Amino acid sequence: MRPDTFWPNGMRSAAAFTFDLDAESAVVWGAPDNARRMSVISHQAYGPLVGVPRILNLLVEHSITATFFVPGFTAERYPEVVREIVAAGHELGHHGYVHEQPSALSRDQQIAALDRGLDVLAQVAGVRPIGYRAPMWDLSWEMPQLLLERDFLYDSSLMDSDRPYELAVASTQPASASLVEIPIQWTLDDWEQYCFLPEISGSGYIATPDQARALWESELDGLHAVGGCWVLTNHPFLSGRPGRAASLARLMARVVAMPDVWVAPLSDIARHTRALNLAPRSIQPIDEQELNS
Ligand code: ZN
Repeated sequence: MRPDTFWPNGMRSAAAFTFDLDAESAVVWGAPDNARRMSVISHQAYGPLVGVPRILNLLVEHSITATFFVPGFTAERYPEVVREIVAAGHELGHHGYVHEQPSALSRDQQIAALDRGLDVLAQVAGVRPIGYRAPMWDLSWEMPQLLLERDFLYDSSLMDSDRPYELAVASTQPASASLVEIPIQWTLDDWEQYCFLPEISGSGYIATPDQARALWESELDGLHAVGGCWVLTNHPFLSGRPGRAASLARLMARVVAMPDVWVAPLSDIARHTRALNLAPRSIQPIDEQELNS
C-alpha cells in the first residue's frame, strides 16, 4: 500500500500524543520496599498532582485529543484526576493494575491484573477501554489472546512496524482472530531522556528538553516521509515539569501545524486501521527449549 492511501482524507502520516499515568505504580510493583521512600513516592505523585493538569491545558490549547494509559492502582489513588481526563474528552487505555510486567507473570496472574484493571477503570471512570499498553512495553505471548477475549480492539506495545497492522492471534473465535497493533519505539518515550531515580531507574544522565524534542522531531519527520504513525509516549511525572512541558507545547504546535498529519487518539487510529481490512500477520516466536538444547 502506498503511503498516501493508508491514512484517511489524503493524510500522509498519523501522530498520537499518549501519556502513561504510571505514578507510584511503576516504582512499587516488584519492589514494594520503594513504598518506604517518601521522596521517591513524591516524585511519582507529581504526575497526577501537577503534571496532568498542566498537560490537559496544553492539549486544550492545541486542540489535541490524547490517549492516557492508566494503571488501576493509579486510578484508585487519584480518581478525580482520572475523571478529569475523561471529562476533557481524552481516551483511557488499560495499563495493568499495578504496572505489572506481563512477561514476568503467569497466565493466571496476567488475567488477574487485566480484570482488576478493567474493574477499577469501570468503577472510577465508567470506562471500558478498547486499548491496552503493556507496562514496561513488555508484552507476553499470551496477552494478545487475553485481550481479544475481553473485546479489546488494539494493543500498543510492539515495535516491528512503522505503522499499525493487524496482529494475528490464535483464538477459538474466528470472527475476532486479530488485534490492531499500534507500534511504539524507545526513541519516542520520555523515560530514557528524563527519568533519573537513584537505585531505581535511569542512566544518571538527564537530557535537556531541546535534546528530547530534537530526537522526537527527527522521528516525526522520518515517519512522516514514509507514511508512518508517530506515537509519542510521555509520563506526566517526567514531561509535566514546567521546562519540559513548555518544550512539549512547542512540539504540539509543530505537529498540529503540519497539514497532512492526522493527529488522533489511538482509539481512532485503531478503528481506522480495522476498517482497512488488512491481512493479519503474526510474529514468529522463538522456541526457548530449542535454544537450550
Ligand atoms: Zn507505564
